[in-house]
Amino acid sequence: MTTKTKLRDDILRHLKYSLGKDESHAQITDWRLALSYAIRDRIVDPWFASTRATYAQQGKRVYYLSMEFLIGRLLEDAVVNLRLLDETSEIFDGLGLSLDDVLGDEPDAALGNGGLGRLAACFLESLSTIGCPAYGYGIRYEHGLFKQSFEDGRQIEAPEDWLTQTHAWEFERPEASFSIGFGGTVTDLGGKTVWTPDEAVVAEAFDTPIIGWDGNWANTLRLWAAVPEQVFDLDRFNAGDYYGAAQPENTARTISRVLYPDDTTEEGKRLRLKQEFFFTAASLRDILRRFDSEYDDLTLLPQKVAIQLNDTHPAIAGPELVRLLVDERGLALEQAIEIARGCLSYTNHTLLPEALERWGIELMSDLLPRHMQLIEAIDKAHAAEHPDRQVTMTDEGDVLMGPLAFAMAHKVNGVSALHTELMKETVFAELHRLHPDRIVNETNGVTPRRWVLSANPRLSQLITQAIGKGWVDDLERLKKLEPMADDRTFRDAYAAAKRANKADLSNYLGERGTDVDPDAMFDVQIKRIHEYKRQHLNILETIAHWLEIKDNPNADWVPRVKIFGGKAAPGYVFAKEIIHLINAVADVLNRDPQTSQYLKVAYPANYNVTLAERLIPAAELSEQISTAGKEASGTGNMKFALNGALTIGTLDGANVEIRDLVGADNFFLFGMTAQEVVERREVANHAQKAIEADPRLKRALDEIRKGTFGDSFDGIVGNISGPDYFLVASDFTDFYRAQRDVEKAYADQDDWTRMAVLNTARSGWFSSDRTIRGYMRDIWDAQALVAG
Ligand SMILES: *Cc1c(COP(=O)(O)O)cnc(C)c1O
Repeated sequence: MTTKTKLRDDILRHLKYSLGKDESHAQITDWRLALSYAIRDRIVDPWFASTRATYAQQGKRVYYLSMEFLIGRLLEDAVVNLRLLDETSEIFDGLGLSLDDVLGDEPDAALGNGGLGRLAACFLESLSTIGCPAYGYGIRYEHGLFKQSFEDGRQIEAPEDWLTQTHAWEFERPEASFSIGFGGTVTDLGGKTVWTPDEAVVAEAFDTPIIGWDGNWANTLRLWAAVPEQVFDLDRFNAGDYYGAAQPENTARTISRVLYPDDTTEEGKRLRLKQEFFFTAASLRDILRRFDSEYDDLTLLPQKVAIQLNDTHPAIAGPELVRLLVDERGLALEQAIEIARGCLSYTNHTLLPEALERWGIELMSDLLPRHMQLIEAIDKAHAAEHPDRQVTMTDEGDVLMGPLAFAMAHKVNGVSALHTELMKETVFAELHRLHPDRIVNETNGVTPRRWVLSANPRLSQLITQAIGKGWVDDLERLKKLEPMADDRTFRDAYAAAKRANKADLSNYLGERGTDVDPDAMFDVQIKRIHEYKRQHLNILETIAHWLEIKDNPNADWVPRVKIFGGKAAPGYVFAKEIIHLINAVADVLNRDPQTSQYLKVAYPANYNVTLAERLIPAAELSEQISTAGKEASGTGNMKFALNGALTIGTLDGANVEIRDLVGADNFFLFGMTAQEVVERREVANHAQKAIEADPRLKRALDEIRKGTFGDSFDGIVGNISGPDYFLVASDFTDFYRAQRDVEKAYADQDDWTRMAVLNTARSGWFSSDRTIRGYMRDIWDAQALVAG
């Protein structure tokens, strides 16, 4: 039987026997689930083989602990990695259905806020592609990141509900469960310390296999759901207290109910800390259980177990691992700290002071009394080793999770070259002085399977025709495209692929109410809405440009569509005002008969992984305009460069490395450097001075203030004219200049395409395969194994 016939039979068999549906009555979701099960069946064997190989070779396992996994849809990824896309497409053609519709029916699993969660998802896929034994550990949120819509231009949030449909990918593991305690007391029983929690919930595992490219290896994403120890209070129920009877269940389930919709500030502190401890503690218990099944010497732990903390959210792993080793396994404190540190390493993702986690000592002592003691003990041990040390793990009544994570990690990494250097100079300057070998850099990357091969089939086909298939898991081979930048035929084909992607996006936007010309320049800024990412700089420049066009509507303007996408944290007032302003500007500009042929604004709602996959292949200009020194790396910037969008950007995060690799001539640089940013903030009235020096900027601000866009947007205008911490006014003039350079370059379409080809050809280094190999070598000391 051919692969295709067998797959077709399996789909039909699952439709009938797993879903109980007759072909003639099957809905699109039934077909999607039938395909998912048929594909999942094909992952199980390599998955088992991977586990067997890891045991057989006693390989070191990598455990990636992350509060967030922004995995998006899984079906297409799996079909592509099993290399069954053509067969699957033909099967559905034969059934009179479109594979795109079937794949498009899958809910987008948004178990993350943005870059940090998406990085974790790309890493899982790369770990499997490479064949490095690994587990992702996180929380099985019932409700992921909220769904965004707009009403009168303002963001409206609705709960996300990915689990209301059958989730075809996961396997429930009721046997893999641990009781996780909170609160209670700590007692000393003749030298043995015992923590007796007064509250407990059960962490239950749900496993999703993650298949790597070519289907050779699969790792596991294990997500924990919180369930009650006691399902139901029968006494209360029988006494007629039906609501009270369900209370234990409600209290427990709250822990895995929602993803915090904010990646910078902490809300609902107690519950958030509970979530962090819940998944970290369950993961560590699981890790030790697996270790115990193979080894009986705890000193081997650092040789066999690498635990990566994705930001400080799981930083309680330090004290918890020490607690398990000391209180439950009887090791001495110093030895326990040393073993724990040998296993643990920590990735820092931000230098923004408001985003560095701190927990009140009072809260920590109440919720995790034994851990609070151990944090003090770790701090004391560190002080004893470094008598001249200035840093402490506690400050002004708070536990500082960054220093704690640093002290308990054998390696600490930044996520781009610039970010890592700034870590050494700023937040971790003192700790870096004490531990000069601890900080390393691992510049982020993205998986080429999802972000090029699946998302951009037209470009992928062209690349494969030109240089063969090997680029998919060896992305630096894209270099071989470099000479083709000078080949007219190749450039034409490359431009045609981009044009077709733009036509698709133009249809999509048209169906959602914004008609755009597919021949205009597609200029895209998609990411979380945040002051430091400066969407307001972009929209301010849009207004200034619009006013210029209105002054001279018959000039030869380069038509452009400004596309925005992104969500604001529900409590982040300033970010929400930015969203409102963008929509208000769109409303006015798109209806302006004088200018709309030259300048439009589109803001499709509910930016997520799926929307990113649609927008990025159609983008020609990538907006990476954060205030220098504030974006740790960015990964959106890499997805764009690979897909042949040219970047307009500051020297921030991985933009610096993108520019170095693609060449300064193929990148539109503007703005102050991180150093100049620091200096400019010291200049009195820097914003007012910048506004007075640039009549275009002044005019754009006046235009907003006088109500042209409905509201007067006092928050934004007042901020830019006043404190302007993120230096929108100071960077405006150079940004405006760079945008005009972009237009000049775009006017020569053929040369633009040449630059785009060079961006694709020179961005292969940004594969997350390269990033993962870096972690394996510099941090984990882990080896790839071959399944079988
Ligand atoms: C890649 C990605 C991000 C990160 O984007 P940045 O521009 O690096 O902030 C955020 N959200 C989604 C859905 C992504 O795919």
